[in-house]
Amino acid sequence: MSVITAASAVPPFCLPRSGQRPRVAMMVRSSNALSAASILTKLHNDCATPLPLLRQVADSMAADMRAGLAADGASDLKMILSYVDALPTGEENGLYYALDLGGTNFRVLRVQLGGKEARVVSTEFDQVSIPQELMSATSEELFDFIASKLAKFVEKEGGKFELPHGRTREVGFTFSFALKQTSINSGILIKWTKGFAVSGTEGRDVVACLNEAMGRQGLNMRVSALVNDTVGALAGARYWDDNVMVAVILGTGTNACYVELMDNIPKLHAPKSAGGSTIINTEWGAFSRGLPLTEFDREMDAASINPGQQIFEKTISGMYLGEIVRRVLHRMSEDATLFGDSIPKKLQMPFSLRTPDVCSMQQDTSKDLEAVGSILYDVAGVNSSLESRKIVVEICETIAKRGGRLAGAGIVGILQKMEEDSKGAVFGKRTVVAMDGGLYEHYPQYRGHLQDTVTELLGPEISKNVIVQHSKDGSGIGAALLAATNSIYQH
Ligand code: ADP
Ligand code: MG
Repeated sequence: MSVITAASAVPPFCLPRSGQRPRVAMMVRSSNALSAASILTKLHNDCATPLPLLRQVADSMAADMRAGLAADGASDLKMILSYVDALPTGEENGLYYALDLGGTNFRVLRVQLGGKEARVVSTEFDQVSIPQELMSATSEELFDFIASKLAKFVEKEGGKFELPHGRTREVGFTFSFALKQTSINSGILIKWTKGFAVSGTEGRDVVACLNEAMGRQGLNMRVSALVNDTVGALAGARYWDDNVMVAVILGTGTNACYVELMDNIPKLHAPKSAGGSTIINTEWGAFSRGLPLTEFDREMDAASINPGQQIFEKTISGMYLGEIVRRVLHRMSEDATLFGDSIPKKLQMPFSLRTPDVCSMQQDTSKDLEAVGSILYDVAGVNSSLESRKIVVEICETIAKRGGRLAGAGIVGILQKMEEDSKGAVFGKRTVVAMDGGLYEHYPQYRGHLQDTVTELLGPEISKNVIVQHSKDGSGIGAALLAATNSIYQH
């Protein structure tokens, strides 16, 4: 057995796949040997999602939604008011912009809307990555950078898109960080996340920050709508289809929003407009009740920057599926010599296996699972046998299946809540759930499990009318549409 540990001065290196040299950079394997089969069986059992369990998950989701609507802080689900009370109808006309800041990139988009007939006359976008140093700069520096890119984008138009005289360009601002929204065009930043540590923004209205920066750039522009990406996705999908009632993002993280009646929101103390509805941002990633979790999930959670939080997100979203699989593989190589007598060093590195890798391995239909072999070699540094590759694919399937099925149960929970609180609101008529995000878009097995679960839980009759469909990049155009819907000018 090779026993050179991570503390060794010998740098790790990758062997050629056929290499016969002794391996380096391996850890000593622990002695409590188990069989891979028994670990796999336990994983299957712990991840099982039989219909009764999924029904419970859907029921708990519905109950937590209600609790979150009753009072702030009463539920895992924050059920945040979006202040989006009017969704696009298709009648929108004119030139609008969107700005999407949600991660390491931001996007600027321009759309020319031509009303019911012409719809989207033209659209164009630009994507810019946020320089690392700006992620820990001052608020002014970050927003000045964003505004300067926006100014460049507008400048490039070269006067091609003129607004009526005296009119200011309007922007829909998609901002996917924790906000305390106070109106459709204002929101206080509670906390930067995702690696941002910008000073001076927390506790401030991010719309004011952006408006001021645009002013400093001499840009004649204003933010008309501040929206979460899920809300943007719902607006974008609704523009094309009046029956869209729910939007779900399954990407790096996950979230969902839906159309709720004002009368069903006890915590909304403001006067209710009779018959009015609004969009509620559930922040469902924080859901946690009754989920089938494994020791691997618990360990990953304990090692995370937010232990005990975002448990649903950690079970179903793209940032985590790969890491769960890696933890299972690591255990199997430790306890069951899945990859021979030693533990590959790369496999010990958190997040070294990514969800797209897991997805690619599941697409391998070759007899000897060649693609699985090369991904394992490239990512984990292991030479695998056909036997172990088969086990790896089964682990991928187990984790993806649990994720897809739980996401499906969450969707049914939302639909169920909507129907229970207003009979006939969704069941028995065409209802569309708009889906967006890289995980949903690119992982066919995951998507399949999600759809199967929705169908199984709703039954054949109701599910005939419930359409779960991909609405690509709805959130970008959605924010521009919401800028139009909330325009200060008459249409
Ligand atoms: P974000 O959620 O960061 O706004 P996206 O919606 O584009 O971004 O989703 C990106 C995420 O989607 C990645 O972090 C990854 O987890 C997941 N993803 C991307 N490609 C694939 C793929 N081929 N298979 C499975 N998941 C993928
Ligand atoms: Mg996104």
